[in-house]
Amino acid sequence: MKGTLYIVATPIGHLGDITFRGVETLKSVGKIAAEDTRHTRQLLEHYGVSTPVVSCHEHNEQGRSTELAALLEAGTSIALVTDAGTPLISDPGFRLVRAAVEAGIPVVPVPGPNAAIAALSASGLPAEEFVFAGFLPAKHGQRLRALEAIVAEHRTVVYYEAPHRILDALADVEAVLGPGRPVVAARELTKVHEEFLRGPVADVRATLSGRGSVKGEFTLLIGPGQPGDAPRDSGTIANEVEALIAAGAPRMEAIKTVARRHGLPKREVYQMAGAVHNEA
Ligand code: SAM
Repeated sequence: MKGTLYIVATPIGHLGDITFRGVETLKSVGKIAAEDTRHTRQLLEHYGVSTPVVSCHEHNEQGRSTELAALLEAGTSIALVTDAGTPLISDPGFRLVRAAVEAGIPVVPVPGPNAAIAALSASGLPAEEFVFAGFLPAKHGQRLRALEAIVAEHRTVVYYEAPHRILDALADVEAVLGPGRPVVAARELTKVHEEFLRGPVADVRATLSGRGSVKGEFTLLIGPGQPGDAPRDSGTIANEVEALIAAGAPRMEAIKTVARRHGLPKREVYQMAGAVHNEA
């Protein structure tokens, strides 16, 4: 009989956050495949688990998946864990799970902690529907483009972010989505210094940048925007007005249409279009 591959969620900080079934599974399998064996051994020691551990991380997953799939085929059950939270969610494990699925090996989730869900559940932002978008791109240009894509998003968007990039990320959120866009920076979830910074992005950024240093793990949530939140440069607005006029709309009608499109007051569109018109 083939073994089973269990996908076991482990704590994201608080050692108590693992399910009974999670611990039982770690004890009962023949092997544990862990992202960082030293890190996982601390958890195993805490719960008196003596199952052998092998590494399975970003850099060896391809080869390791073949070895582990062979063990599973031969009847050994394996538990996959990562350093924190649910494996595969912005974490290693996809290749192993895919190999197991393709080989017809049973894959069983043992659910538990996940930083995105924990942050969302206590954020105070709409959670009926949401988008989980993994890590924000580290490169500035790519990050701007990723944020431009969510200007009109009506669902809460959840990102993971590194502490050394959180201030740059918040500055970009403010520039692209406007200073009033609601955000929540969830820091150090389940740990001693757990903290939720909630409010318009400009305020959250000011609070964080006012601190000497920014430390800890962050999950960043961006709430739905209201039409008109996003700053529009006057050149773009003026071009849109001119395009409508060129298409035959009377000037005031064009201004009204563009204002509605962007949720801006007519007066503002009038001024933007006029300013660019005068400069030209
Ligand atoms: N698989 C994990 C999960 O299920 O949450 C996520 C792994 S990902 C490599 C790590 C990122 O998750 C961190 O950089 C941070 O953005 C977020 N994260 C993990 N633990 C966190 C915590 N305790 N508080 C806030 N964010 C956390």
